[in-house]
Amino acid sequence: MGGKKPEGMVLINEQGLRADGRRADQLRNIKIEAGVLKQADGSCYLEWGGNKVLAAVYGPRECHPRHDQDPTKARVRVRYNMAAFSVSDRTRPGPDRRSQEISKISSEALDHVVLAHLYPKNAIDVFIEIIEAEAGTRCAGVTAAAVALADAGIPMRGMVTSVAAGKVDGKVCLDLSREEDNFGETDFPVAYVNNTKEIVLLQQDGHFSPDEVSEALEMTQRAADEIYELQKAALLRKYQQMAGAEDVEGDAGHEPQIEPEPQIEPEPQIEPEPQPEPQSEPVHDTGVEN
Ligand code: UDP
Repeated sequence: MGGKKPEGMVLINEQGLRADGRRADQLRNIKIEAGVLKQADGSCYLEWGGNKVLAAVYGPRECHPRHDQDPTKARVRVRYNMAAFSVSDRTRPGPDRRSQEISKISSEALDHVVLAHLYPKNAIDVFIEIIEAEAGTRCAGVTAAAVALADAGIPMRGMVTSVAAGKVDGKVCLDLSREEDNFGETDFPVAYVNNTKEIVLLQQDGHFSPDEVSEALEMTQRAADEIYELQKAALLRKYQQMAGAEDVEGDAGHEPQIEPEPQIEPEPQIEPEPQPEPQSEPVHDTGVEN
């Protein structure tokens, strides 16, 4: 954010379209899959433009170390991590200040919806792994983590969905690409709770006028509604697949169902073509008397 834009670089053209062809209020492509990891209690794989993210949830389980336990509720602990190979310049493995900050804000956003009081002294551990990064990874991470929590069956007051707006060439835009993030003027990630519209994460890097803040909030809220539908659909698909698999397993223990023979529709009776009368043979007198 705020890098010096190379001379001649156009981020928004005269038609108001962005370098990747999107309108100002358009999201990058998003694909969400729930329940992708066998070992985790809940998981999610999410692709968002050039971002590829895995989220895994373990718990509720006894919180260790014990001095971290809260006798009144579970701790929602998030670890955001960028893989060393996730960007073109290899990132230094292990937690740095940026990943600690993102872990903290993600944990605060998710903690707001998890019914943590149901699991005193427990921990709900959420791992967000950025496999490939192309700007907006914190939003993608929180969105994936919320799906993974739901997939783990963790009771929540609502679904958390995160998306950013920003300012590019003086215009408020949704969901910045890497170029826009590097050379734009403002980055404004937000996370909402879908049913209450509460804001559980809000950051701003750069400047916005009050009107631009309103525009960015309106834009992100509309986009969050759209993304929420994808989160819901991913969870539904997972459970439909499970139900399908159970049906197959259930059938395996029973007598094999014999497929009824397909009923063959009776052929329509075709009126026989009138056969020409056989030429009657001349009756020969056999000479045998009947
Ligand atoms: N980035 C990078 N190396 C790093 C950290 C970030 O190349 O060590 C890139 C990455 O593509 C990331 C983008 O810079 O998505 C913007 O990072 P930012 O801190 O704004 O977080 P994000 O937008 O990913 O939430």
